[in-house]
Amino acid sequence: MPPEPTGAACRILICMERPTVGSGTTTEVRSLAYLHRVGVDRVRWLGGKRAASLCEKGIESVTDLLFHIPRSYVDRSQIMRLDEVEEGVETTVIGRVLRVSVRRPRRRLVIVEALIGNDTGSLKAIWFNQEYQARRLDRGAEVALSGKIERYRGRLQITSPAVDILATGRENLAVGRVVPVYRAVGDATPAYLRLGLHNALKRSRPIADPLPIAIREGHELIDRDRAVNAVHFPEHIAEVGPARRRLIFDEFFRLEVALAMTKQRKMAGSVGITHRTGAGFGLVEKFIAGLPFRLTGAQQRVIDEISEDLARPYPMHRLLQGEVGSGKTVVAVATVLTGVQGGYQAAVMAPTEVLAEQHYEGVCRLLADSSMAARPQGSVSLFDIPAEQSNGSGLLVALLTGNHAEVNVRRRGTTRREELLERIADGSIDVLIGTHALIQEGVRFRRLGVAVVDEQHRFGVHQRVKLKDKAEGVDPDLLIMTATPIPRTLSMTLYGDLDVSEVDEMPPGRKPVRTRSWSMDGPGLEKAQETIRREVASGHQAFVVCPLVEGSARVEAASAVAEYGRLREVFPELSLGLLHGQLPPSRKEAVMDSFRRGETDVLVATTVIEVGIDVPNATVMLIRDADRFGMSQLHQLRGRVGRGPDLSQCILLADPTTKDGARRLEAMVKHADGFRLAEEDLRIRGHGTVFGARQSGFSDLRIADILRDRRELIAARREAFSLVEEDPGLDMHPEIREEVRVLLGERVEWLFRS
Ligand code: ADP
Ligand code: MG
Repeated sequence: MPPEPTGAACRILICMERPTVGSGTTTEVRSLAYLHRVGVDRVRWLGGKRAASLCEKGIESVTDLLFHIPRSYVDRSQIMRLDEVEEGVETTVIGRVLRVSVRRPRRRLVIVEALIGNDTGSLKAIWFNQEYQARRLDRGAEVALSGKIERYRGRLQITSPAVDILATGRENLAVGRVVPVYRAVGDATPAYLRLGLHNALKRSRPIADPLPIAIREGHELIDRDRAVNAVHFPEHIAEVGPARRRLIFDEFFRLEVALAMTKQRKMAGSVGITHRTGAGFGLVEKFIAGLPFRLTGAQQRVIDEISEDLARPYPMHRLLQGEVGSGKTVVAVATVLTGVQGGYQAAVMAPTEVLAEQHYEGVCRLLADSSMAARPQGSVSLFDIPAEQSNGSGLLVALLTGNHAEVNVRRRGTTRREELLERIADGSIDVLIGTHALIQEGVRFRRLGVAVVDEQHRFGVHQRVKLKDKAEGVDPDLLIMTATPIPRTLSMTLYGDLDVSEVDEMPPGRKPVRTRSWSMDGPGLEKAQETIRREVASGHQAFVVCPLVEGSARVEAASAVAEYGRLREVFPELSLGLLHGQLPPSRKEAVMDSFRRGETDVLVATTVIEVGIDVPNATVMLIRDADRFGMSQLHQLRGRVGRGPDLSQCILLADPTTKDGARRLEAMVKHADGFRLAEEDLRIRGHGTVFGARQSGFSDLRIADILRDRRELIAARREAFSLVEEDPGLDMHPEIREEVRVLLGERVEWLFRS
């Protein structure tokens, strides 16, 4: 007689045997998707404390339960007999609890002792100041104790062992097998979950395997039903590995199928532009020829990749990754010009005003260097633009932000917005650069052909779509730039529907930045200030970044003002600048200009300088309270120095109050490579929280880990994309289709609408 199921997890299974939900055909009952739906509908009315507890923690269905996989296993075959334990070894022993006692020999000392035994002998276990152990150890319960065997007063004992309750007095699931040990879920104890899972598996029919045989065999994956069974109740511990591998593959596969379908859908539903690329159209070549440096191999390769995309009749969706300072701007400008040379307009959207202005300046400068656009000059009304400037020999580049509208022929004073909007609409502006102001009502392009979005992670997918909508009737080509490299495995999941290009080579002559982490107390601050003094004395400049104040630009600005005041006293002989988000745009610009021209020695700033600022003469980056910053912010900030020929340093001043903060600083000191740092960051934070569950498929990765399991990820991605290419609607693979739809839920629902 199997033990009678008790509680929610088991009752879900009773329902499953006589399904009253859904049509209940054989295939359906057997599929994961079916198990999922039945569970969702059934568990709600079950009531009971443990059922509620499971639901609360997200275990609402049989599939959820099946994916609550063991935290560890106790392999009874590996276990020492009680009469064989030896002094000094670390081991696991199993026995029934024969006796438990609690003593308080003196104040603030509680000793719990237990005697466990079985037919091979008995052993004393002892814990200090862990009184709760006594409450967990019921007499007669079977427990596994893991710890060190010691000798005390001539007798062997196990000291402060970790405890796994294997079975209560009545249950015998934990006898004679590899015993799965589960994480408790609310009121559902590990033993309860074990029983629930045991029943779930015993009573369900074999779970169908929708994965084509060829894929299974190609990757030596075991059958799904076997995998699910073996991950919970392996007959040998060696079965666990392959079982987990199969389930991990499944998770990635589902996600990648959804991404492949997303990509497919986008391509099918869009009308692209076939841009004119290659020799004869001139603008890109002229631009590159006019640059004061030679492209790196990586820049050239990526420009070629993009150019191929642009020449195709369907729209590009490409992610451009590259280390800070690797020269992505040049790539972006070449992309923009490819569109412009065919008579289209281009848009560049940046996440902040400062960055938009930087891009505007940068693009104007690059183009002016190649004599392709008018250099900024005196005040001219837009309508006075000489004809030759708007008809090809000079490009019109405009800036549009919340506060600002200007065109590159006019520097002082502000262009009237309406005037600018009119010139965007009539097509005379070739390149429009700006913040999200670009996607607001009222901005209409005549022929938008290329859009570049910088720093995707600050914009949602929604904004991407809105920018594309600015081109009526066609889909402009889209290049997304991330200023922070993300691990390749992450780009495969998070941005998995995009193609990826990497500028994986730095311009020549870059020197690595020396990074140090000093305590604020003691000589740290003094030493840092001394460094600044020395560098300025030798003709360089420095940044001082003030503490991050989460959620309050005002307080942050105030702290920058205070630091500025303090440093004026510390460095009376130096010229200091102050930059924060609360300054009016014209002021910000003046401060930046002065720093760029080398008139300011030290720029005291908030994180507004995080992105895009390019002053090669700056050689010190001092970050106060550095532990409060995120890893990518720190890396970005550090990327502001080391851009010139001279050795630079980054000083992280902090007394970390959190363990994660300390780990971040440590990683910064150790790694220069942004990809490595990004991986480290992922490790510290856990992938679930990196971008929030909302945006990604990460909440669906319960077993798989994108760093640890990257090989499975790569394999699953390849298979998923080729499957979807062959069978775009998954009509030949209805179970996979159903599984993706049901298990990934609302986020992918749109894929299945016709
Ligand atoms: P990021 O990838 O961080 O956006 P930028 O595009 O801002 O990098 O480039 C950083 C600096 O390197 C700029 O000053 C730019 O002019 C310079 N640069 C870009 N490409 C090259 C190159 N091939 N050789 C030398 N300098 C380059
Ligand atoms: Mg940049």
